[in-house]
Amino acid sequence: MGSIPSPGTSPSNLMDEPLNFCSNCGASVALTIPPGDHLPRFVCRTCGTIHYQNPRLVLGCVPVWEDRILLCRRAIEPRRGYWTVPAGFMENGESLEQAAARECQEEANASVEIGSLLAVASVTHASQVHVMFRARLLDPEFSAGPESEAVGLYREEDVPWGEIAFPSGEFTLRRFYADRKAGREDYHFTVLDRPLKR
Ligand SMILES: [Zn+2]
Repeated sequence: MGSIPSPGTSPSNLMDEPLNFCSNCGASVALTIPPGDHLPRFVCRTCGTIHYQNPRLVLGCVPVWEDRILLCRRAIEPRRGYWTVPAGFMENGESLEQAAARECQEEANASVEIGSLLAVASVTHASQVHVMFRARLLDPEFSAGPESEAVGLYREEDVPWGEIAFPSGEFTLRRFYADRKAGREDYHFTVLDRPLKR
């Protein structure tokens, strides 16, 4: 996934991160429930700044070229060697569609036109929301970006179903093909509340 800052911090394991120091004043923080709140937060012991942690958005798309879709084989952990639709963390200032298109550019050097909303997965165990669109590959030019070891176009019967990296990706692809068979473009919701079994 393109915008992962470093190996090990990926959509599948980016839980709420421990925080030791206040980014406002540098003093240490304590995990405590602020007055009027109902959940523990990291609160600065010196300046009182409350450091909220909230879910992150992961944006992706299913790029289509004729009867094939573009998939990327991950070059980084977790799930290195497994296949994924191009997807990654949304950046500040982006729209959903811009983030999805950028991830595709970064991971597969592929230009897409983002289409209809396809899937929204609440990945509660990782405090993430994955939003996936359909997309049209503008031309069949692509190559592996730094976080992919291979990129290819696949027909439905050639999709490596047993080697899809993340449950949200499999959900997305299953719904994509079911809708295509039915001649429609619906959007679909799911909740994924368990980490992958290894
Ligand atoms: Zn502080």
